[in-house]
Amino acid sequence: MPKQSHLHCSFCGRNRDEVRILIAGQEGHICENCVEHAQEIIAQELNIKIDSRPNNFKLTVRKPQEIKKFLDDYIIGQDEAKKILAVAVYNHFKRVAQKIQKDDIEIEKSNIVMVGETGTGKTLLAKTIAKMLNVPFAIVDATVFTEAGYVGEDVESMLTRLLQNCNYDVAAAERGIVYVDEIDKIARKGDNPSITRDVSGEGVQQGLLKMLEGTEVLVPPQGGRKHPEQKMIKVDTKNILFICGGAFDGIDKIIARRINTNTIGFNVNKDQQELQRKNLLRFVNAQDLKNFGLIPELLGRLPVVTHLDPLDAETLRSILTEPKNSLIKQYTRLFELEGITLTIEPEVLNFMVNKAMEYKLGARGLRTICENILTDAMFEMPGTTQTELIVTLDYAERMFSNSKMNLLKVA
Ligand code: ADP
Repeated sequence: MPKQSHLHCSFCGRNRDEVRILIAGQEGHICENCVEHAQEIIAQELNIKIDSRPNNFKLTVRKPQEIKKFLDDYIIGQDEAKKILAVAVYNHFKRVAQKIQKDDIEIEKSNIVMVGETGTGKTLLAKTIAKMLNVPFAIVDATVFTEAGYVGEDVESMLTRLLQNCNYDVAAAERGIVYVDEIDKIARKGDNPSITRDVSGEGVQQGLLKMLEGTEVLVPPQGGRKHPEQKMIKVDTKNILFICGGAFDGIDKIIARRINTNTIGFNVNKDQQELQRKNLLRFVNAQDLKNFGLIPELLGRLPVVTHLDPLDAETLRSILTEPKNSLIKQYTRLFELEGITLTIEPEVLNFMVNKAMEYKLGARGLRTICENILTDAMFEMPGTTQTELIVTLDYAERMFSNSKMNLLKVA
């Protein structure tokens, strides 16, 4: 038997005492340096970044009522969307878990479309579901996709994003969730073919079709256009759940026409208009989406349709304080970490909500408004001896009126 000191790495020739680890193979050894080096070569060859952190995607499936309860912690209102999503997601994973036997009934995928104004929580719903299920999740914007041959991204790039988000764990990605935002923007624009080619419309819908249904796709690991020398990763989309969302501006009129009610009249005030729109969205179905410009084949692969309600002042106020990681809770924690107790007076919350409504920013604007009010304090207070910040209405108004957002309004 060779003496310990004669052992060496069969790749670089270093002796046992020159390396820290020597792994034995059948007829040779490899040291830690060569393993690392080999890993780099693999990464280069496959054109991917290898991260040594293990992935931890262990699917946690819950019952629909539990899913809804989980969503309630993070999302205010939108009860119908939550319920429909909970059932669709539950059925989807039941389908994934089903062991297909020969003459078994094949359960189809329950890909989902959510219709609702921007900033009403569509992305948040999809993201929260992925978090709860502990599956890889990617958000993609349908507007960046173009037909093959045009400048832009291929639809396959959405799977690149998914793979990147789970460190290229293909098995995990194959049970992941992709949220396709702005699906309404790839609607066919009327029956008249436009003079400019429809690079982002129907062709992209066609591209999405197979992907939504379930197919094996060769995905470029770094995204971008395919080129012949590039190594591809094969991903099966059969068990990937696709959730699509869009504002579908003007769909209320299509719904109204279908259900034969009068759409927004001239002598109704703004609140009533909002109420009508809210009520109409409730009736949205696949036919309306078809009339809006989504092709029937695509709709056939998006069997679950639901809507999100527009956010009123009361909901916006709840969004500020109630969710588990609400904005106010987040800022309170940020100040707490600095040893500062933050108190925001109730009138300030109303002020924030009013500004968000005034600027028509929905819930997304609440964050910007909070930033505008609190940035000065977050800049000045750390490192001082102050231990308390009470945000009064007067203070909030002063900070806000100095902000860029306010200047924008003046301009
Ligand atoms: P959408 O995808 O519908 O355009 P988002 O889900 O991106 O909207 O919402 C933007 C932000 O607004 C979210 O990150 C969240 O902070 C907040 N938000 C929107 N709707 C809700 C809601 N119903 N409950 C809690 N927060 C919400």
